[in-house]
Amino acid sequence: MPELRIYDSFRRQKIPFTPVEPGKVGMYLCGPTPYAAAHIGHAYSASCFDMIRRALVLLGYQVKFVRNITDVDDKIIKAAAQAGEDPLERSRRFTDEYNREMRLFGILPPDVEPRVSTHIAEIIDVTSKLVANGKAYEVSGDVYYSVASFAPYGQLSGQTPDDLRAGARVDVDERKRAPADFALWKAAKPGEPSWDSPWGKGRPGWHIECSAMCAAHLGETFDLHGGGKDLIFPHHENEIAQSQGAYGPGTFAHYWLHNGFLNFDGEKMSRSEGNVFTCTQIADAVGAEAARFFFSSHHYRSPVEFEYEATRDADGKLATIRFRSLEAADRRLAYFYETLSRIDAFVASGDGGPGAVVAGADTLVNDAREALSDDFNAPVVMAALGEAAKLANKLLDEGKGIDKQVRRRSIARLGADLRTVGNTLGILTAAPIDYLHERRERLVKRRGLDRAAIVALVAERDAARKAKDFARADAIRGEVAPLGVELLDTPTGTDWRVVDAG
Ligand SMILES: [Zn+2]
Repeated sequence: MPELRIYDSFRRQKIPFTPVEPGKVGMYLCGPTPYAAAHIGHAYSASCFDMIRRALVLLGYQVKFVRNITDVDDKIIKAAAQAGEDPLERSRRFTDEYNREMRLFGILPPDVEPRVSTHIAEIIDVTSKLVANGKAYEVSGDVYYSVASFAPYGQLSGQTPDDLRAGARVDVDERKRAPADFALWKAAKPGEPSWDSPWGKGRPGWHIECSAMCAAHLGETFDLHGGGKDLIFPHHENEIAQSQGAYGPGTFAHYWLHNGFLNFDGEKMSRSEGNVFTCTQIADAVGAEAARFFFSSHHYRSPVEFEYEATRDADGKLATIRFRSLEAADRRLAYFYETLSRIDAFVASGDGGPGAVVAGADTLVNDAREALSDDFNAPVVMAALGEAAKLANKLLDEGKGIDKQVRRRSIARLGADLRTVGNTLGILTAAPIDYLHERRERLVKRRGLDRAAIVALVAERDAARKAKDFARADAIRGEVAPLGVELLDTPTGTDWRVVDAG
């Protein structure tokens, strides 16, 4: 296996990866605060770390992946109050929704999915440790972390104490010793979920949960901690202060990984810009796997430009939206699935057995490992996938001058490796026919085609062919062609596809 090198946000450089325990990786990702439908930015961040997790497995590591659910939070409490709903009930509902959406995007469920509401004892335990060793203090039922008590504070984000003072001015709280101090525990307010604690009834602040859950599920010291760049400050900075404050220097995550922003036509995604697209919306428009394919062609640390063309109605509401770059990704993905479909059909009559293959037919997995070991360079893997698919199609198109068994074996190997490596990026996991048919339905919708009329013509053609009325069968091919529909003869009858040249 190639040596793994990771860009560590804390040290701000690419360094060799040495796990706490050889061959094993403990990995923590800050998960969602489920109070509303997940947007495409959530799917992007989750996709980056799903790729990293799968890449670690391809590189031979045994991975334990923990992703939390923040089910107790100001945003949930506020949204639930507005909807007249129980906050925990609302977060449960949107957690289920989140997990359904992430599955849609090919994101594997975490090994452990801890929730705040089931980790109150662990949170109280860390908080008590911090109070006992003088790093936190209580003020009438609230507990604050004293930033001044943790000398290395600010190292991850590069924030200076002056920056912190300036940033905190908007939020002056007389009870805090310093403006940058943050809440570990908040005294109960009416209508909010609360639990008993040594400081009276209350609930955790946001940051403390991750420190408590990391310790509970990965130990006081573990390998990788991930999240979006937007979490570096204050969230991850505070996590470090809490965990190292409680467990000592050198504990907590040894490497920090942060994914880049998803930008919308140069703008950061925001509800006020009206460019918050939900996961479901993207999946319906272009297919979740196409989005995953698109993400994989960017390095996880680079910003991703997410283009869309929108028309708005008189009220300024979005009327129609097109996602051209995702549509292009979907076309390219269709090429890969069509390649796999051809390979499957070819290999069905024999895979050539063991033995030699043509040059370049057995290098894909190693090339992928090489690229992924260089700070998870997915775009290089994408290029290697493209080369492998090109070679497979070339071998399928023509076998001149190649031993029959060698050709068969090479095509079978390319098919298997395309799937192995594709799966590492969370793509090419479906049966080709399922993906191609699903895509066809999306194109029918996008083009506004009359599906029932097409299906009727296809049935008529099958009947005509059965009756050996080939003139009529050919005429039908001509009738659907202007609609952009192409008929395909298969062993089980006529299939059809929507031509999509872009
Ligand atoms: Zn966190």
